[in-house]
Amino acid sequence: MHRFFVPPSWLEGERLSLTGPLAHQLVRVLRMRPGDHIVLLDNSGWAVEVELDQLTPQSVQAHPVHRWQPQTEPRTRLCLYQALTSEKKLDWVLQKGTELGAACFTPTITRRSLLQGDVSENKLERWRRILTEAAEQSGRARIPELTPPMSLEQALSQAADGHLSLIATVEPTARPLRAVLESQAAAPQQVDLFIGPEGGFEPAEIELARQQGVQPISLGPRILRTETAGIVALAAISYALGEMGQ
Ligand code: SAM
Repeated sequence: MHRFFVPPSWLEGERLSLTGPLAHQLVRVLRMRPGDHIVLLDNSGWAVEVELDQLTPQSVQAHPVHRWQPQTEPRTRLCLYQALTSEKKLDWVLQKGTELGAACFTPTITRRSLLQGDVSENKLERWRRILTEAAEQSGRARIPELTPPMSLEQALSQAADGHLSLIATVEPTARPLRAVLESQAAAPQQVDLFIGPEGGFEPAEIELARQQGVQPISLGPRILRTETAGIVALAAISYALGEMGQ
């Protein structure tokens, strides 16, 4: 069934009215008809299955048939601090990370990041659309949070008690991810994961992270591309925390 995030006010009451681009999409693109069902989400964790009653490209009338809370959010919040990289790679990381259940993304400006400056409001809006569409596609009831880009120093200062904070590096002193996860007495509330840019982190950045209680981790003997590393680590952490249905 098709899923769409909508403003919370659209889900109040027993007679629902869907307007704007969603009405156009339902009528002109998906060719929906009276009696068809879709799922609406308001980013609160609840989902509402609705039946469509009357459709025009401007406005679709519907009524709710079933409300429930999809169990698709990981128990542990996974937050990815991805070094700013090219637009295409970052789009891919946001999409795949959402499918894997990440709760938050922070594009991070490191010393060797290809991009150093602010990003436009248009770009942030585009990234939010990617997150929303990936959340709809993957059956999530919440859209991951997106923080505007910040420096690595600022991002590291957010690493907090109760979080397991990890920085991926090819430095030989880094501990294997598996060993770090196995040494946890209990599942952490939140995992913060820092991934470096194409040229890697500078040694001083790894040292700074260490001083802030962020543990350097290795993802194995092969060097992964920046856009692969975060996704691989998210999948491995999810598996180790029992978030992949095992
Ligand atoms: N030559 C670079 C260096 O010296 O770090 C390689 C950078 S790699 C292409 C980009 C980022 O992916 C790294 O900064 C790190 O965060 C992560 N990464 C890639 N392979 C990794 C591995 N085997 N173990 C840990 N982190 C890895």
